[in-house]
Amino acid sequence: MNPLRLLLLAALAYVVWRLLRRQLRDRIQTELLQQQRNEQEQQEATEDVLVEDPVCGILIPKQQAVRLRQDGGTYYFCSESCCDAFTGGRKGQDE
Ligand SMILES: [Zn+2]
Repeated sequence: MNPLRLLLLAALAYVVWRLLRRQLRDRIQTELLQQQRNEQEQQEATEDVLVEDPVCGILIPKQQAVRLRQDGGTYYFCSESCCDAFTGGRKGQDE
């Protein structure tokens, strides 16, 4: 192969590599920022949101609610007994 062409190819590869690296770094930074923002929003949203207990229908602050994760959804209850009533006595995947 022509040495000049080889040099050109190397230079091109270098430029492409630099571009890719910068793009990757930018993307990672953007994703990190987005993630932090999402977490912040979630925290803020959790603080003063009222959720409805599907068993007794009472509204409870999300933070104080008893959580149950089931079938890909999250349910909130005012107490363990409501949670138990909802699951019908069987043990849920409560965290
Ligand atoms: Zn309840």
